[in-house]
Amino acid sequence: MTTWTDRCADHPLPLTAPSGIDRAAHLRLDEASLAAAWSHPSTRVFVVCGGQVLIDETPDGRTELVTTPSFEAPLTEAHRYFLGTDEDGVSYFALQKDSLPGRMDQSARPAGLREAGHLLGPRDAGLMVHAVALENWQRMHRFCSRCGERTVIAAAGHIRRCPACGAEHYPRTDPAVIMLVTDDEDRALLGRQMHWPEGRFSTLAGFVEPGESIEQSVRREVREESGITVGEVEYVASQPWPFPSSLMLGFIARATSTGIVVDGDEISEARWFSRDELSAAFDSGEVLPPYGISIAARLIELWYGKPLPKQGPGS
Ligand SMILES: [Zn+2]
Repeated sequence: MTTWTDRCADHPLPLTAPSGIDRAAHLRLDEASLAAAWSHPSTRVFVVCGGQVLIDETPDGRTELVTTPSFEAPLTEAHRYFLGTDEDGVSYFALQKDSLPGRMDQSARPAGLREAGHLLGPRDAGLMVHAVALENWQRMHRFCSRCGERTVIAAAGHIRRCPACGAEHYPRTDPAVIMLVTDDEDRALLGRQMHWPEGRFSTLAGFVEPGESIEQSVRREVREESGITVGEVEYVASQPWPFPSSLMLGFIARATSTGIVVDGDEISEARWFSRDELSAAFDSGEVLPPYGISIAARLIELWYGKPLPKQGPGS
């Protein structure tokens, strides 16, 4: 039997393709190995700042992270993240700084994950999502949640230690559920968030609450946002979503009711669409095709059965 997970696995979601990077977690506390990796001439370094990195086009039309050898990078060990090594033994570090470096060549430009996640190859996208997730966590966890003292970076960016009480704090990942709900007629439930532009519809989503399983979370969120009750919940795929620290868990869920009552708080409108209705709504411009790197577009596409119409990121 072909599952939704199998169908989704045909081509990896953005930010989830095998990157070829070994995170080499055993080296994070090995100061001698880290120092050797940093000073090796093949080592590559890039700056991460506010979720952005520098990207550039190669002569053959690919987009890459702008990296430098470590000897060109300022030695700011306080904010140096070790990201791992590739198949050739090249080590990668990210430096968290308060600004991106200026570039002599003007083709390089800053980009966040939503843009770069589309453009970069698997290795660079994997490095970037790791660095951005660490940066977001580091920036928001400067003080000890146990005693309030200022914490210090450790383990090459993967731990923060409290010098006062000795607590060790690890990067947080907050599980969030995102689900395409279908009914007995195989229609899909799509909603529009309050702050979205007219015509933009997507899957429902929400955070897993304390003391909840992810299946319970799917059912609660759908009920809260749309009034629809959900029975069967089938896992499809996950996606790192460091905006700032989520892990998106994607599902196809089966509705056991069809009467929509939106919460009017998060969701302003929700509708059932058959494939023909959604196709016609795309054609007329009534509904904007989803775009972006989010798993939401893939969940809709899996149900839709063919690629969704393309839409430019500016439209
Ligand atoms: Zn403390």
